[in-house]
Amino acid sequence: MLRLFIGDAVPEADLRSLVQRSYATFAAKEVIPVKRFGELFIAELFHGPTLAFKDVALQFLGNMFEYILSKTGDTLNIIGATSGDTGSAAIHGVRGKSGIHIFIMYPDGRVSPLQERQMATVPDANVHCIAINGTFDDGQRVLKEIFNDMPFKRSRHLGAVNSVNWARVLAQVVYYFWAAFRAIDETGAEQVQVAVPTGNFGDIFAGYIAKKMGAPIKRLILATNENDILSRFFNTGEYSRGKVSPTLSPSMDIQVASNFERYLYYRVGCDSARVRELMTAFAKEGCIRLPGKDEDFAAGRGDTAATLAAIKDFYGKYGYILDPHTAVGVSVAQSLPLQGVPTICLSTAHPAKFSGAITQALGSDLAKHPALEALKSLELRRVKLEPQRDVIEHYVDEQLALS
Ligand SMILES: *Cc1c(COP(=O)(O)O)cnc(C)c1O
Repeated sequence: MLRLFIGDAVPEADLRSLVQRSYATFAAKEVIPVKRFGELFIAELFHGPTLAFKDVALQFLGNMFEYILSKTGDTLNIIGATSGDTGSAAIHGVRGKSGIHIFIMYPDGRVSPLQERQMATVPDANVHCIAINGTFDDGQRVLKEIFNDMPFKRSRHLGAVNSVNWARVLAQVVYYFWAAFRAIDETGAEQVQVAVPTGNFGDIFAGYIAKKMGAPIKRLILATNENDILSRFFNTGEYSRGKVSPTLSPSMDIQVASNFERYLYYRVGCDSARVRELMTAFAKEGCIRLPGKDEDFAAGRGDTAATLAAIKDFYGKYGYILDPHTAVGVSVAQSLPLQGVPTICLSTAHPAKFSGAITQALGSDLAKHPALEALKSLELRRVKLEPQRDVIEHYVDEQLALS
């Protein structure tokens, strides 16, 4: 699958080795186990080092970056601001890689203790965690200011690992085929449908590409929590910004989805001028409308009550604990009319990462994972800095000079 996009830019043996090393860090033998529960299949995407699906893309991306840098002799200094999960997956993707440093800012005291531990206990010298004295928005603002400081950006070889990175999308395309084939092997069906807990539209966009490539997917089920700009769009044709509200599935608490433009491009017949028109109108008015319906998608919203009910119900029936993001997908999939094909729900995180939601749903903290327990005894390694451009830039220079 990767080869179709990479062409001969990376020789066969090198690509194989990159892939093998990337997924050797996954704790499951199959990398992504696909398990059957009654009528539903669950594809567990969370066996990577941070126990969330972003590892699937970022483990590969880290190795790919290192490989390319070793060929060109360049260096890359990644800088990012996180409200939680993306930062840790990015750190674990590039820790210990040569030619790369990573600087991650997060709001001090405003990420969960577990999220902080997943980032700030990583011992590699190329990992730099910065707890800023401010909010997530302060982090985003400083990041923008640093990226707008062109002389600094160029001379320090700064880069980002955000969710529009094509290599990330690419790595995710593969598991749609894999999961579909597993469910087809099991059932003899010809097609499947895949439910995807959605935030930034990165994961499900990969599913859309897989479907376009010919994966036996009848339709994709887009599942959001209360932050439902995308499920509203696929049901009504109206894409309009709302306010972000915090939920039990925080990695889906977004309003404007960065990969959505890519989808729009296909939706309007690959007319990039039209995409630009639409996005300009959206930036100005906070709302656009598209006529017609895309039969590749069904969509729905699973709110807090539905999330908790899905966790409880699934545990009662199968003794299996869904994380709250996965529960949104399961709940939406179960709320839609059956299609006569097997349903696969993508499971995007291990439930032990979200013990608060699990306790709320099941009455006690039943989900544990040894990797998370082990973090509790490790020392935190981070600096606390003010969210100011000159302060952060000075710190970056200081650290790069040390290395
Ligand atoms: C990032 C994330 C999502 C949302 O994925 P998108 O690609 O942003 O749509 C869902 N669940 C978990 C656990 C995540 O970390």
